[in-house]
Amino acid sequence: MRPEDLLRPSPRGLYCPVGDFYIDPTRAVPRALITHAHSDHARPGHGEVLATRETLDLMALRMGPSHAGATQAIGYGESLDIGGVRVTAHPAGHVLGSAQFALTWHGCSIVASGDYKDAYDPTCTPFVPVRCDVFISEATFGLPVFRHPLAADETAKLLNSLQVFPERAHLVGAYSLGKAQRVMALLRAAGYDAPIYVHGALAAISAYYAERGIALGEIRPAADAPKAAFAGAVVIAPPAAITDLWSRRFPDPVTAFASGWMRVRARARQRGVELPLVISDHADWDGLIAATRATGCTELWVTHGAEDALVHWAGAAGLGARPLHMVGYGDEDAEAPPEPASEAPAVPPEDAA
Ligand SMILES: [Zn+2]
Repeated sequence: MRPEDLLRPSPRGLYCPVGDFYIDPTRAVPRALITHAHSDHARPGHGEVLATRETLDLMALRMGPSHAGATQAIGYGESLDIGGVRVTAHPAGHVLGSAQFALTWHGCSIVASGDYKDAYDPTCTPFVPVRCDVFISEATFGLPVFRHPLAADETAKLLNSLQVFPERAHLVGAYSLGKAQRVMALLRAAGYDAPIYVHGALAAISAYYAERGIALGEIRPAADAPKAAFAGAVVIAPPAAITDLWSRRFPDPVTAFASGWMRVRARARQRGVELPLVISDHADWDGLIAATRATGCTELWVTHGAEDALVHWAGAAGLGARPLHMVGYGDEDAEAPPEPASEAPAVPPEDAA
């Protein structure tokens, strides 16, 4: 038996012919397992969706309650039998509710990790390596040049800037699901206790995080605040909003952006970012390698991102390795469509942090 008999790439995403289901399909399918609620992985229109409670809630929040015909929640460590395939959910450490799915059938085990990171994140359950024969990994930051610094050190840069420029608003671009709440939690963990102002697109998701027990402190809608309130304040908004009309209400802001791509100075410059914060929800090069090794896999499949370098590393390390060239999965910014910058209460339909 080959692993491809259990799971294989298809034009709609990873497909399990034995259980007749897809993982993070890019088009509507009868049965989908969804690793997390970012819009490049969680799409509307599926017949049945299996995901963690948090992912299902976030999907409903973003796409409306009727995004799927039926939903079923699975907790971390829980297993289900789907057409003879044993499916187990494990934490991926990417955003709240993010899961890896381990598939076992006839002694063959494959782990589809979705997006993941092994770095500290107070807003979600930490990544757990799962033993398997085949590990399926993304490679958003799959080049040796990508080594993310400690998020706490990047947070300290923001706090330091607030001290240096106490009269300027600090406008932080952060993707609305996951990154924005992580920045808030990192600020709180560093002892910052002033109210944090948010763009309307972040309000509902942040409220949901708080409801699930993630301490984000006092959050205020930026739309309701007088201009004077923004002096020396932190304002968090979707990346697109920090450079558009919306940002003009803030006098002389310090523009920051929290993304793994901020490691690339040219990207920060292109975006007019004064204060780049290298905070990523994806594993860096060392993280990808450590995670792969920790699974004990004999084969690595790479879904998207900088596939070649990781596949090359795996080959040199004695693993079977193949790039899957899967399309439809974005990254933290350039390849993902920009988020709408309006203050509409509707949650933006896309991001990938
Ligand atoms: Zn993601």
